[in-house]
Amino acid sequence: MSQFYQAERLALLPPYLFAEIDRVKAEVKAQGKDIISLGIGDPDLPTPDFIIAALCEAAKKPVNHQYPSYVGLLSYRKAVADWYKERFGVVLDPETEVVNLIGSKEGIAHFPLAFVDPGDTVLSPSPGYPVYGSSTGFAGGRVVSMPLLEENDFLPDLDAVSPDDWHKAKMIFVNYPNNPTSAMADRSFFEKLVQKCKEYGVILVHDAAYTEIYFDPNNKPLSILEIDGAKDVAIEFHSLSKTYNMTGWRTGMAVGAAELVKGLGKIKENMDSGCFQAVQEAGIAALKDGEPYAQSFRDVYRERRDGVCAALTKAGIEFREPQASFYVWAKTPAGYTSADFVTKVIRQTGVVLTPGTGFGAPGEGYFRISLTVPTPRLEEAVSRIVAL
Ligand SMILES: *Cc1c(COP(=O)(O)O)cnc(C)c1O
Repeated sequence: MSQFYQAERLALLPPYLFAEIDRVKAEVKAQGKDIISLGIGDPDLPTPDFIIAALCEAAKKPVNHQYPSYVGLLSYRKAVADWYKERFGVVLDPETEVVNLIGSKEGIAHFPLAFVDPGDTVLSPSPGYPVYGSSTGFAGGRVVSMPLLEENDFLPDLDAVSPDDWHKAKMIFVNYPNNPTSAMADRSFFEKLVQKCKEYGVILVHDAAYTEIYFDPNNKPLSILEIDGAKDVAIEFHSLSKTYNMTGWRTGMAVGAAELVKGLGKIKENMDSGCFQAVQEAGIAALKDGEPYAQSFRDVYRERRDGVCAALTKAGIEFREPQASFYVWAKTPAGYTSADFVTKVIRQTGVVLTPGTGFGAPGEGYFRISLTVPTPRLEEAVSRIVAL
């Protein structure tokens, strides 16, 4: 008997799908087997030293020991606007079209509270980042899943969403480069998405956490704000986490339509008191001078990607070679469900993969490999899978 009744919003969260896998992992570990986890999307490489040095300097300033502004330092928002101009050719007003976040997850989780009422419909990709569904649920919204299928290059089929759902929809979440499928969106998809959102009056939320993890400099991921008219309907979430190996630092940004940025700011004003200003100052340094480092991280991920793809080919496992993100989304061999295959691989090799179903039912038949482990360990892991 528990003493406290949980709020319904907690009971509504989807069941934890990894319990069985965690159990097998613990069992294999207890047998003394060497476990290699390719399950977590968290960069293994350290944050560049110059960013750490900027933090140390900024941490010494008494002004930074006080409450920060919940929308972020104006100097941080200006650095974001400068970076968007340089990287995407997108012009932003730092005063009204940029807000600092305590990591983009914080912003994504809070955003529906500003714009979704109980019963409102929210379109969300599946497989997808679980926060879209939980934040919608916390606001009382109803998720309509858009399956990401290989035959559509893992883009949602916007024409397969019924006109009724488009009419009812308040918001749509998309995420490219995509976690977990590693797919990229092309300009024509984004153009159609913006046009649909305008037609039906739907708020377009683009989660752009992986735009800087790309492998072809002639085919860089787009910001949704590069599309004509997008700023009328869209907000884009971005983060320093994946780009500069700063997941632990908790700093990011939301940019786009001033009204959407303002609504999110209102929620934040009442929920948190912003991101430590010393971290924001370090973030400014990263945005200004981080590009050569970001390039060196891309080179590391490319090398790892090539190694993993070669090994998967050798093992007869089907996949699409990722052009962006640090994930490989591969097919489970015939005769296995995602969970069965992942369980078998842990048992026999000690290598931990993520089952596709962990990101939603349409992820069945797939598993995800994360490239965020040191290269020799990754090589060891894939050689064990090949030998299976
Ligand atoms: C990592 C990740 C984020 C958020 O990262 P933060 O550290 O909170 O900025 C957002 N979306 C996706 C899809 C991610 O994989």
